[in-house]
Amino acid sequence: MTCILKGGPAKCVAVDAMLGWLARWLRILGVDAPPVGESDEELLSTPCLLVTRDRELFRRRKGPALLLLTDDHAAWLSAVINALGITPFRESRCPKCNALLYRVDCEEAERAVGHRVASAVCWRCPNCGSYYWLGSHWRGILSTVQRALERGDRCEVE
Ligand SMILES: [Zn+2]
Repeated sequence: MTCILKGGPAKCVAVDAMLGWLARWLRILGVDAPPVGESDEELLSTPCLLVTRDRELFRRRKGPALLLLTDDHAAWLSAVINALGITPFRESRCPKCNALLYRVDCEEAERAVGHRVASAVCWRCPNCGSYYWLGSHWRGILSTVQRALERGDRCEVE
């Protein structure tokens, strides 16, 4: 079993701080995953879908929650994408701060980062000012997401 899901629908996800990798990737896929504090109280009271590996936290949670039962990162992505019913990459968010990215001219990105980026598509974060482009890192992401979608992992509903 990959995961257990409970509670109603949610428009955003609150990812347990222990799952930072997952939070960054979900933002790149366009999922609204606002940064959350590390306290259990904050996680337990979020209006978002709580995503955690902590059974005790999951048990105490009254609202929507998803408990991950595997270490497989592609399974994590697959489970959350299917639980939310989202279409990946309709938009992208900053992996660092969750703000929606906007397209910029890659010449601007190259000036800002001080080197060539060899990409036809570039983005900037309006909140933290980070630049992103379709480099080898993104191609790795795309293949992992493709694998995740092909898996079609679904949670057992509690
Ligand atoms: Zn940012």
